Amino acid sequence: MEPAALMKVSNLIKHYGDVHAVDDVSFSVPKAEVFTLLGPNGAGKTTTLEILEGIREADSGSIEIFGQQLRRIDRATKERIGVLLQEGNFEPYLKVREVLRLFASFFRSPRSPDEMLRAISLEEKANAFVKTLSGGQKQRLAIGVALINDPELVFLDEPTTGLDPQARRNIWSIVSGLTASGKTIILTTHYMEEAETLSQMVCIMDHGKVIAQGSPRELTARLGQETIVDFVAAEDSALPETLSPCCTIVRGEGGLVSVKTSDLVATLGRLLDWSRASGTPLAEMAVRQPNLEDVFLSLTGRRLRT
Ligand code: ATP
Repeated sequence: MEPAALMKVSNLIKHYGDVHAVDDVSFSVPKAEVFTLLGPNGAGKTTTLEILEGIREADSGSIEIFGQQLRRIDRATKERIGVLLQEGNFEPYLKVREVLRLFASFFRSPRSPDEMLRAISLEEKANAFVKTLSGGQKQRLAIGVALINDPELVFLDEPTTGLDPQARRNIWSIVSGLTASGKTIILTTHYMEEAETLSQMVCIMDHGKVIAQGSPRELTARLGQETIVDFVAAEDSALPETLSPCCTIVRGEGGLVSVKTSDLVATLGRLLDWSRASGTPLAEMAVRQPNLEDVFLSLTGRRLRT
């Protein structure tokens, strides 16, 4: 049985002059799951989110949220949603608990700041000034602010951009805990690992359009029985011409070469022959299953991070 949808978006359109920022976007967000909009810079993720958060108005399209059809997100709906903005800056000379108390005062039945400090593991920093927090701690505080009204639906716009791997994992664990407690998350990211790790449902966007939707497993399964061989070669080195017909070869950043094949054994044999003959070492060679980055590449011919 399909999980119940908390939100349904139909034919959403937002143009800025000639820029089709959101171009006929439709999707459905299941309850108590992480739903991710994945796409490169400029794909239209933030604009879509801002419309759903009530910050921007769509040119056309419809939004059904909490069982109600709305043209624009109203005040009553805003009480039930939480928003982590991409560029949330707090007053540097406020203390962490004061920030939470301030935002709590905007809502009718907020959670207590101390309860929230525990939820985001910032109890030790309760009396620290915002300006002394690390990037990861600031982001956890921003998530605390987004959750202070105990929302049913939480929007997280690129919650881990610019964070180190440890801080990123801390945020991931907070997000996973939220769905376990019944909250629904709409996340945007251009990190495919983040989408793969956190989401039950992914909607891939490019140039304002949805180009694929499904669970990470469904999306990668579309690539069939293919395997990827990655290696690193000098950016100006020639690539093997003898691998086709069972392969496609794509160059990425930093000399990364990805060979997609439906016949791994034959491809490895040919790659090794080519490496010996050309004197090109297959540096950092790895064999792996396709991921969401490969899905994006197969749909657009480009990588997510360009
Ligand atoms: P990023 O990952 O960089 O945040 P995104 O997928 O969130 O990208 P948007 O920020 O929604 O993409 O931008 C979509 C397109 O709309 C881009 O081409 C952007 O330049 C354009 N755009 C966004 N906001 C405005 C605006 N206020 N005025 C004009 N164009 C805009």
